[in-house]
Amino acid sequence: MVRHMANPLTPDVLVDPVVLTRTLVDIESVSRDEKVIADCVEEVLQQTPHLTTDRLGNTVMARTDLGHDQRIVLAGHLDTVPIDNNFPSTGVDDLIYGCGTSDMKSGVALALHLAATLPDPCYDITFLFYEAEEIEAQYNGLHLVAQAHPEWLQADFAVLLEPTYGVVEAGCQGTLRAKIRTTGRRAHTARAWRGVNAIHAVGEALRRLEDYRPRTVTIDGCTYREGLNAVRISGGVAGNVVPDECTLEVNLRFAPDRTEKQALEHVHEVFAGFDVELTDSAPGAMPGLSAAPAREFLTAVGAEPAAKLGWTDVARFAALGIPALNYGPGDPLLAHAPDEHVEIGKIRDGAATLHRWLAPR
Ligand SMILES: [Zn+2]
Repeated sequence: MVRHMANPLTPDVLVDPVVLTRTLVDIESVSRDEKVIADCVEEVLQQTPHLTTDRLGNTVMARTDLGHDQRIVLAGHLDTVPIDNNFPSTGVDDLIYGCGTSDMKSGVALALHLAATLPDPCYDITFLFYEAEEIEAQYNGLHLVAQAHPEWLQADFAVLLEPTYGVVEAGCQGTLRAKIRTTGRRAHTARAWRGVNAIHAVGEALRRLEDYRPRTVTIDGCTYREGLNAVRISGGVAGNVVPDECTLEVNLRFAPDRTEKQALEHVHEVFAGFDVELTDSAPGAMPGLSAAPAREFLTAVGAEPAAKLGWTDVARFAALGIPALNYGPGDPLLAHAPDEHVEIGKIRDGAATLHRWLAPR
């Protein structure tokens, strides 16, 4: 490894998750530029005797092998969105400001702090510090690991330390986009009766959307709210032509009790009689809170879980049959904002919770 600075992740930094958060924030790591931070993390983990470390691109994996019959994953992405006058970090009272403080270097700090300071956890743990979560899925470190080293993801339960403001956010909703296409016949608008207007034909589809009543579904105590929305419409040829084509793009956010196939069937039902073309879809993830490590985790947190409405990487674990949830100290409402910050108290609470959950018994 060639690096021109001393590794700032020293033992006295690793022992304090608050100092560690600031130190991680001060290693710039915008997506596709994670080599330096991955080098620093890898070096620290390699020097930790109770861990076996491996690397794929700028994704670092470290694991214990203590012979426990259950294994959990603690995962966090190393990258941030582009900096916006918010680098390096600044401290104001009990807040740390800076790019990635909330999303999600405070979460990464919790995992790295545990990796360095808990040699004898009550479950075997796989730590994953991965690249490129904030950009297109093809670069996503977890996606690449799932293809190249699926065994790195094998576990009974996974926690992603994404910002949730200290609340457990379980499962996630699926998402599907489709194009509803109408066709007609072109004509000069001066002789419109010779044509068929494809834009008018979309009116019926829009009325169905107006009348649509989305489901609310409760699974394992988590309430998911579905939504079906028009997100784009295009059509028209010229100012004097009856248009012969119009396309309405819709986005369905669906609760995890529907599969992608069932979600598509539902869209076909809603738009029966129309030409429906699937653009893309991603599955949801069931909250999976019945597994023993998950129940013990909820006890350690001591608060009710909430449903995750957006799509997150927990779905990658769910696709492998591994229950996963989000739990992290950052405030999701501050993610990607120029005034992004994290509360020091939330970092300390998070570290205490994880220690309670994973301490040797
Ligand atoms: Zn994130």
